[in-house]
Amino acid sequence: MRIYGREGDTLEYYSKVFDLPVELIIDSNPHIENPCMIYGEKILIPGYTIEEFKSDYKNLYDRFRLPLDAIILVNNHTAAARNEVMVPRRVTERLINTEKPYDYEKMKADLTLLNTVYPFFNTACIGESVQGREIVEIAFGRGQKVIHYNGAFHANEWITTAVLMRWLNDFLLTVTNKWIWNGLDSMELYKLKQLSIVPMVNPDGVELVHKGEQAAEGKWDVVAMNEGICEFYRWKANIRGVDLNNQFPANWEIEKERNKPKAPSFRDYPGEKFLTEPEAIAMQQLAYTRDFEKVIALHTQGEEFYWGYNGKEPEASSFIASEFAKRSGYKSVRYIDSYAGYKDWFIDTFRRPGFTIEIGKGINPLPLSQFEKAYNDSLGILLASLYM
Ligand SMILES: [Zn+2]
Repeated sequence: MRIYGREGDTLEYYSKVFDLPVELIIDSNPHIENPCMIYGEKILIPGYTIEEFKSDYKNLYDRFRLPLDAIILVNNHTAAARNEVMVPRRVTERLINTEKPYDYEKMKADLTLLNTVYPFFNTACIGESVQGREIVEIAFGRGQKVIHYNGAFHANEWITTAVLMRWLNDFLLTVTNKWIWNGLDSMELYKLKQLSIVPMVNPDGVELVHKGEQAAEGKWDVVAMNEGICEFYRWKANIRGVDLNNQFPANWEIEKERNKPKAPSFRDYPGEKFLTEPEAIAMQQLAYTRDFEKVIALHTQGEEFYWGYNGKEPEASSFIASEFAKRSGYKSVRYIDSYAGYKDWFIDTFRRPGFTIEIGKGINPLPLSQFEKAYNDSLGILLASLYM
C-alpha cells in the first residue's frame, strides 16, 4: 500500500498509525535516507491492501477500528469528489496457495504478488538455467549472519519449492501482524538473522516434470535420457540430464566412479566434470558472495536429515541436529554414503553447518496430500535454523 509523506510526519509515526514494526517500514522504503524527513516522499506500507468504499470516514472507523489518520493518509492524494473512501485493510491471511502442482510461472507470479504487499523483502536473479530461466534468490532480515535455504535441486522434488514459498508467506504474515509463530516471535527472528531462500534451483527440470517433453523445446532428447518413457515424474536432473546435487567438488570423483549412469540421464549423472552446469555454478557463487552461516537444502523424501561430511562438520552441527530432530520428529543421520552434494561441498569448504532435509515419506514425486504434514514437520527445522 502506498501513501505520501506529510510535513512533520516520521516513519516512526506511521508505524504507530498502522501498528507495524518500524523496521519493516524502513526496510520497505530503502529510498528514504532520513526516516524523520519524509515530506512528499512515496512511502510503501507493508502488510496492507486498499479497498474502496462509498461511505464517510466516521462510519468506516466504526467498522474497521482504524485510526482516522490511517484513512486520511491513504486518501490524501485522491479525488475527494468521487465520494469514495479508500480504506487500508490489514492482510491477515495467506496470499498464495501453494498446495497445487507448483511450477516456475506460479512461483514467479506468487513472488510478484507477495512483493507488492510485502516490499521489505528483495528478490535477485543469481544466475540463469540452461534454458535461460532466472534462478531467483529471496532475501530479507536484519541480522549479520545469513542462513540459506534451497529447494528443487531435484526436479521431481518440486514440492520443496511449495514448502519454501508457503514458509515465506507465513513469515511475512506473522512478522507484519506481530504474531507468535510456533512459540517464536517472528520479528525477533527477523532482527536476529538474514534469510536467503532459493526456492527453485532447477526450474528447467521442474518444467519438464510438469509439462512433459515439449518443455525441452526439441533441443535435448529427454525421452532417451528417460529410458524411453514419456512421463517425467521420475526426473531429477536438469534439462540436459545432469544431476545438480552431484555436481559439487566434494569427492565428486567418487560419485563419478560409482555405478552411476555414464551419460546424461534422468537421475544421478554427475556430469563430465564437476560444476559444468549453470545452476550449480550459480549456487556455488552465491555461497561465496553471501558467506552463509548455515545451509538448509530441502529434498524429498524419507523424514530424515543428513548433517555430516567426512568429519568436517563443526561441533555445532550435532547440537543443531538434535534440535531439528526434536522439532520435526525426523530422524537425524550423520553420514550417508553419498558425495558431491551442495551441503557436502558447503561443509567441506566453509566448515560450517550444512543440512540436507528429506521431507515427507513415500515415492517421489510426493503427492500433494502430503503437503500439509510435510510443511508442518519441516516448519520446526526451518524456524530452529534461525535461532540455533
Ligand atoms: Zn533430492
